[in-house]
Formats: sequence, structure tokens, C-alpha cells
Amino acid sequence: TWANVPQGPPDAILGITEAFNADSFNQKINLGVGAYRDDKGKPHLLPSVQKAEKLIFDSRLFKEYAGITGIPAFTKAAAVLAYGKDSSALDRLAITQSISGTGALRIGGAFLERHYPGAKKIYIPNPSWANHAAVFKDSGLEVAKYSYYNKDTIGLDFEGLVADIKAAPQGSIFMFHACAHNPTGVDPTPEQWKEIEAAVKAQGHYAFFDMAYQGFASGDIHKDAFAVRHFVEQGHNIALAQSFAKNMGLYGERIGAFSIVCADAAEAKRVDSQIKILVRPLYSNPPIHGARIAEKVLNTPELYDAWLLEVKDMADRIITMRALLKDNLEKLGSKHDWSHITSQIGMFAYTGLTPAEMDQLAKEHSVYATKDGRISVAGITTANVGRLAEAIFQVKG
Ligand code: PMP
Repeated sequence: TWANVPQGPPDAILGITEAFNADSFNQKINLGVGAYRDDKGKPHLLPSVQKAEKLIFDSRLFKEYAGITGIPAFTKAAAVLAYGKDSSALDRLAITQSISGTGALRIGGAFLERHYPGAKKIYIPNPSWANHAAVFKDSGLEVAKYSYYNKDTIGLDFEGLVADIKAAPQGSIFMFHACAHNPTGVDPTPEQWKEIEAAVKAQGHYAFFDMAYQGFASGDIHKDAFAVRHFVEQGHNIALAQSFAKNMGLYGERIGAFSIVCADAAEAKRVDSQIKILVRPLYSNPPIHGARIAEKVLNTPELYDAWLLEVKDMADRIITMRALLKDNLEKLGSKHDWSHITSQIGMFAYTGLTPAEMDQLAKEHSVYATKDGRISVAGITTANVGRLAEAIFQVKG
């Protein structure tokens, strides 16, 4: 029956993990993984999350189904976290729990495909998280790219970005990374976001934000939500995908949210009914454990305060590793300008290294990361940063 099913290409990240695992060198470094690691290189369980799980366990809750759009105490808290507690969006929001950020994007893609009144085409940045194009294509949308990254400056191609927003047909759908752009680590400044917003508004475009790293980028949940909140304040009824994978370390629990800001509560009710119609035949209703954890952390004042500090600690460790890597490269006498390492933000840094140089890093120095020159800063530790800098220095000079 399946004789004609062709072999699909291997996942780029899985290939790196395989090569890393096969390497017997005891100081090998894996900078491919998109998950936080502590300064010992180990996965991290947040104390606030651990405490929330204990409270949940002790209360012996039943494992009954949640509603189609999940646990209301969770979605309400997720909305406040993203939009801000005084946001006008909260009273006119359609929101559903989702299978982490990916599931939120997928529901969003499906909703736009079914109900968006304009062209069923979504513009994503070039480059973007590799899964964006796949998620939106599978949702039935056409995918196009807008300029984002300037490889000469290893920074934002702001002029190109704004020009592409202006050149797209009126009423196009634009997807933006709310903060900590993956894979480049390059974010617009607040001033640039204001100009982007004005261009989006002038063209009557629709904005869909992917916020997979709130708090994880700068360490401040409000600062990281700037773009989302600014667009809403300027009157955009945006769509938003949220993930709690990174900022709560809940990767495998698959907890996120998808929301649409509506014109008023009546519109939100209609949109909500259509989200339910989409979700029901997909997976009926979402898993409850991650939602209970996130809800407990967000709605219990002591846990929430502790969590804010824990997110900041993770963000700060990453920021410190960026600075250490740059310092080490400079101390070695590298003549390259490495300021992009510290000006970029979030889990990933775009080093500017070529595919050939990345190959050399792996083969000669046992340093593994994707060919595009992206390294996961979360994989850098005080113990390996010196050796990493030497490896990069030997490859790049
Ligand atoms: N969007 C971006 C930009 C991401 O980097 C990620 C995670 N790598 C996601 C969405 C979704 O992740 P998850 O489904 O684990 O929440």
C-alpha cells in the first residue's frame, strides 16, 4: 500500500543531535538544541513550577476533560500575561488553550484560512523558525516571505522590512515574532516597532504575533510584550500565539494559547464558537496537566513573583553567556566585530559563520550547531565558553 511513499528528508536539528551523540570527545559542545540549559549544561526545572505541581498533586484533582478551549483559569491568566492586566483587549478576546506555541500557530493558520476575508496568504520573515512555513502551509495558507535579516550587518534589514510591508497588497496577513526572533536573535527596537506598526496600519494589513519567548528574551515580561501591546493600543485586532515551553520550562507539557482580539464582546463570542468548531475535530480538547501548572503559577501571587525572578535568571544567564563569548573572542585577538553577539536577544545567536565554517567547527572542534550559523546560547556555560571561543577563533580568525 505504501510502496510509493517517498523517504522524507531528516530533521536538521535531529541530525545534529545524532552527530553530537556519536562524537566520543568528552568536551564536545551541543549548541543545536532549542531548550534552556543551566550553567552545568543540564535541563532546568523551575522551582515555581515544582511547587505548583506539588499543590496540584496534593489537591487530588480528577482527570476529567477540559472544555474544547481548555481551562478558563489558565486562558484568562495567559491573556493577562500577554496583553497586560489593564488592556482593552481582555473584554473582547477569543482565546483557546493550545498544544503549546506550535498548536497555537496551527489553530491560527486554520482560522485564518477559513475566515480571513482577504487573501489566504501569510507573510513570514526571511529567515524564520523553520516550522512556520510548514505549519501555515499545512493550515492551507500560501506562505510568502518579507525581508528581515541583513547578512552584511548581521542585523535587521529595517528598510527592506518596511518596504516589503508597503509593497504587499492591502489587507495582507503578516506574521511577526513578538520578541527573541528565531533563528536570528535580531529584534526591532521599540522605535522600529512603532514604524512597523504605522506601515502595517497604512496598508490595512492584519498582524499575527508569535510570542514563544515572553520574559525569556529581556528577563522582563512587559518589555518582551511591547510589540504585541503596542499594536493593540494602536487599534490592531491582532491574533497571537503564546507558548509556555521556554518561559516556564514546560516544553513537553505542550502548553500554550491562541487568541484573537475582536471588535467587541459579541464578535469575540462568534469567533470563539468558530475556534471550537476548528478544535473539536482536531483533538477534541487539550491536555490538562500543563494548563494546571501554568494556571497555578500565574494565579498564585507567591508563585507568580518567584516565577518572574526565575525567568529573569534564565534570561540573565543567556545574556551573560553572550557577553562572555564576545569577551573571550576579543581576548583571543579576533579582529572581527562580535557586537552582534550581545546586541541580539533570546536563546539563539546568529554568529555570521558560513555553512563551511560550521562544518569545520563540528569536524575539528566537536562544536555542533545548525549550518546557518545559529548557535543556541543556552548551550554555553562558564565551563565551555573558553573552548568555544577558541574553536570559533580558529575557524574564523
Ligand atoms: N515559535 C517560535 C519562534 C519558536 O522558536 C518555537 C519553539 N522553538 C515555537 C514557536 C513553538 O514551540 P512550542 O510548540 O514548543 O511551544
